[in-house]
Amino acid sequence: MKRLGIYVQVPFCQTKCTYCNFHTGVVAKDRFAPYVEAVCREIREHRRLLKAASVELDEADGEKKHTAESLCDGADTVYFGGGTPSLLEPRQLQKILETIRGTFGPEIEEATLEADPETVEEAKAAAWVAAGMNRASFGVQSFSDKELAAAGRMHRRADVCRAVPILRGAGIRNISFDLIAGLPHQTKESWKQSLDELIALEPEHVSVYLLEVDEGSRLGKELLTGGTRYSAGRVPSDDEMAEFYELAQRDLGAAGYHHYEISNWAKPGFESKHNLKYWKREPYLGFGAGAHSFSGRQRWANAHDAAAYVSAIESGRLPVEQLESVTAEQALEEELFLGLRQLDGIDVGRIEKEYGVALAGRFEPLAAAGLIQREGAVVRLAEEKLSVSNEVFVELMK
Ligand code: SF4
Repeated sequence: MKRLGIYVQVPFCQTKCTYCNFHTGVVAKDRFAPYVEAVCREIREHRRLLKAASVELDEADGEKKHTAESLCDGADTVYFGGGTPSLLEPRQLQKILETIRGTFGPEIEEATLEADPETVEEAKAAAWVAAGMNRASFGVQSFSDKELAAAGRMHRRADVCRAVPILRGAGIRNISFDLIAGLPHQTKESWKQSLDELIALEPEHVSVYLLEVDEGSRLGKELLTGGTRYSAGRVPSDDEMAEFYELAQRDLGAAGYHHYEISNWAKPGFESKHNLKYWKREPYLGFGAGAHSFSGRQRWANAHDAAAYVSAIESGRLPVEQLESVTAEQALEEELFLGLRQLDGIDVGRIEKEYGVALAGRFEPLAAAGLIQREGAVVRLAEEKLSVSNEVFVELMK
């Protein structure tokens, strides 16, 4: 039986990274407590709040594979993302986790906390584990201090090396590292160095993202209008980024990591249970400002502005935005796009049957161009084309 994933958005950061324009803010600590109260109230009262916002949680849809039973069956994963959730006091994180268990049942198999390395301390790590966290996702991004400083990150290489034994000592057996390919000043040599240092620290899970610079970020503006303050002129080219990605494929594979999603690698058994729900189109509920949700038939998001979110919840209302019912056509596109992100590929027979469509014609030109591989009813992206997967998706969605 499928169970829900729960996402909690914590939209606070210590500083703003140069490439990021997420709806996150650098705020005084006294803003945390009212936010935590609002999130807990949203969790406890989610059925009433969602109903008042025209979200249909309970209506089963016989044609969809995920029905109301999934949503009534409790949750088995929790993911605290941000922003920088590890900035919250451990007792605040504990309060949210207790509210989740009280509302969605106690059987949480995977509880992930996104943490920035410089925020990890022994007492905090012990309190996270006591609260029920069993997975830490680390925004490492790079092991080069020059790259970290240019990107506006707070931590340095030494913080990562210091934090990992603290987490291990506290009892966390599942650690994920994020790396970014394409940071200003990154070279093939420095990227290789980051990969080597990461592998030496033996995290169970690795995510590698190609740098996406938001146009509204400081680095984005400098890329558009010129300047030297944020090292826009030192951002690697697309070809270099593709080369970095391919190097990661090679080295992580050789180190025993299983490549299971375009951006994600795991030691056997350590694939992210929570994130797999997104890629498999399973239901998840997001709480907090800007959090996204999917019920199996509708998608929606909470308002981004944290202060507006808190005041709406305090007045007993959930500020829902972008509420949309997923049409059969959209669902099919999601199946293809999200399915092909997974290296196991998609079962074309199942999708054709479920959506009443014939897909052979759609895949023909991609197979002829060597972009996808077919094996019986299974279609997957060609391994050597993963670094240009966006081009494949553009072709597929035409
Ligand atoms: S990249 Fe992450 S840590 Fe940096 S400002 Fe954006 S949300 Fe905060």
